[in-house]
Amino acid sequence: MSDRPPIPAEIRRRVLVEAGHRCAIPTCRYIDVDVHHIIPWETCKIHEYDNLIALCPNCHRRAHKKGEIDRKSLRLYKANLRFTHDRFSQLEVDVIFELGRQPQAQVMWAPFNRLLLKRLIDSGYIQYIVTPATAIIGGMKSNPDYIQISQKGLDYLETLGEVEL
Ligand SMILES: [Zn+2]
Repeated sequence: MSDRPPIPAEIRRRVLVEAGHRCAIPTCRYIDVDVHHIIPWETCKIHEYDNLIALCPNCHRRAHKKGEIDRKSLRLYKANLRFTHDRFSQLEVDVIFELGRQPQAQVMWAPFNRLLLKRLIDSGYIQYIVTPATAIIGGMKSNPDYIQISQKGLDYLETLGEVEL
């Protein structure tokens, strides 16, 4: 253990703030937390934000005990924290995962519902493709616009460990 450098303060802080200085397991949320490596230090030998999660001593033990809280679960808990931190709505979470499953697809989106995706669009995680109006009905453009995941959005999903989910 002596050859293991400490987790850099910046990274440690980011992980703790992400979890609100509480255990990342939503049903636990105990306030005494430590930073845990999702892929064990012995394997990864690097302190990276994407691989770190805040856990209380009890959940930390359970994560180390084989099969109790596995890596996939920890990645899901971390993903949930990221979404909360980024303040995406549940709809936006559903939309980005759906688009991530079909990165080449341009999916129809009703122009009057554009506001529902505001945070995703502002973050640059999806592209919003406006089509010229072909007909206006009741003051609204009747033909759809399109949404598509961006490279930035794909990178974001990858940092969540989506590839492994
Ligand atoms: Zn806990």
